[in-house]
Amino acid sequence: MSSATPGPASVVVTEIIARKRDGKALTPEEISSVVAGLMRGAVSDAQMAALLMATVLRGMSEEETAALTQAMLHSGEVLDLSSIAGLKVDKHSTGGVGDKTTLVVAPLVAALGVPVPKMSGRALGHTGGTIDKLECIPGLRTDLSPARFRQQVAEIGVAIASQSDRMAPADKRIYALRDATATVESVPLIAASVMSKKLAAGADALVLDVKVGEGAFMAQRQQARALAEMMVRIGRGAGKRVVALVTAMDQPLGRTVGDALEVGEAVETLHGQGPEDFTDLCGIVAGYMLLVGGKAATPEEGRRGAQEALRSGAGLAKLRELVRAQGGAPEVVDDPSRLLGDTECRAVSLAQEGHLVRLDARQVGLVLRQLKEAAGPRKACCGVLLLAKCGEKVGDAPVARVIGPRGAGAALEEAARALAGAYGVAGEPVTGAALLQEVIA
Ligand code: URA
Repeated sequence: MSSATPGPASVVVTEIIARKRDGKALTPEEISSVVAGLMRGAVSDAQMAALLMATVLRGMSEEETAALTQAMLHSGEVLDLSSIAGLKVDKHSTGGVGDKTTLVVAPLVAALGVPVPKMSGRALGHTGGTIDKLECIPGLRTDLSPARFRQQVAEIGVAIASQSDRMAPADKRIYALRDATATVESVPLIAASVMSKKLAAGADALVLDVKVGEGAFMAQRQQARALAEMMVRIGRGAGKRVVALVTAMDQPLGRTVGDALEVGEAVETLHGQGPEDFTDLCGIVAGYMLLVGGKAATPEEGRRGAQEALRSGAGLAKLRELVRAQGGAPEVVDDPSRLLGDTECRAVSLAQEGHLVRLDARQVGLVLRQLKEAAGPRKACCGVLLLAKCGEKVGDAPVARVIGPRGAGAALEEAARALAGAYGVAGEPVTGAALLQEVIA
């Protein structure tokens, strides 16, 4: 962690932190001076972390959140994609477990003629990150320069890049600090983080997938709605077309959690053989992306178009193009199992008969995070294969398999034991939350 030299700036910063600690609103000038100070080293990581914790506890008004978004956005370059024809559409999920949606919808929507400039993040807290997933493809680069990013979108209609130090770099710094200081769960901090990146990436329209439930940063519907509404207003204020979907994140999405396994499941989904819940979500998100991108008159029409691009293989072909354009081995798209390498697994059994009524996504995410830490450089192959999901009958057969690098036996045993605690079984099935809970448009 960097430490700032105490001086006049430091004194002012402590006053700003104290004001937020005491529940007062900060001015746009104060907010931009802290963000600028962080970027030039005049505000230390410790000071920023204190301000973040005060913000989690005291909140921020909409004006403060808009000022934080602008300060983070203008900490770097804002891409101008106006030379690329058509409405450029981006999407963003606020974070989930087993959420590999971008790997499916970005190529699908691009295959239907809507350019998708996508800037993605890494794992945060218990949730996974698209960049970590993509980077387990040998050779694939996500650190695209702004010029390379723009050129790829112009040439093949899609690019998925990590946040470079040139685009919204303040978000990258603050994101890492939040991950290390338990300051992720905050409506204004998530809104400013998401929207600063999205506005920097230069798309004209945006579909936000705001997760709600036990496995999301927003456990309550009301909070998720507040986050969705705040992001929609910030986006509209910046002249963008924005739709927010509030979607369920109680149990993990699909049947896999873990970087390499999820790439495999995304490929299967593009082959038309994905799990039902995940395929449904991809159809919904792609439908709205096609709507805001002007290629469909209704989200349903967009969804039908996306289904057709799945059936025809156009989405899969576009993923292959994307992998090749970013330097990755395109053969992975034909045989994703090669991403796993030499692994071993342990079964998770519950020894209880009945219906699965709970599969706690947060707990699954946390167990996997720990297993990845134990696996070190081979963390990409760590994952959980969910053999049973909520609503299904369970008995003697295993409900999941935990996978890790060969030799990680003790860590795998520990993960399998901990995972068993993520499940709940009852005599009668319970109806889970609907996947799409709300649309804020
Ligand atoms: N996704 C982001 O980009 N930022 C957050 O703060 C949470 C999810």
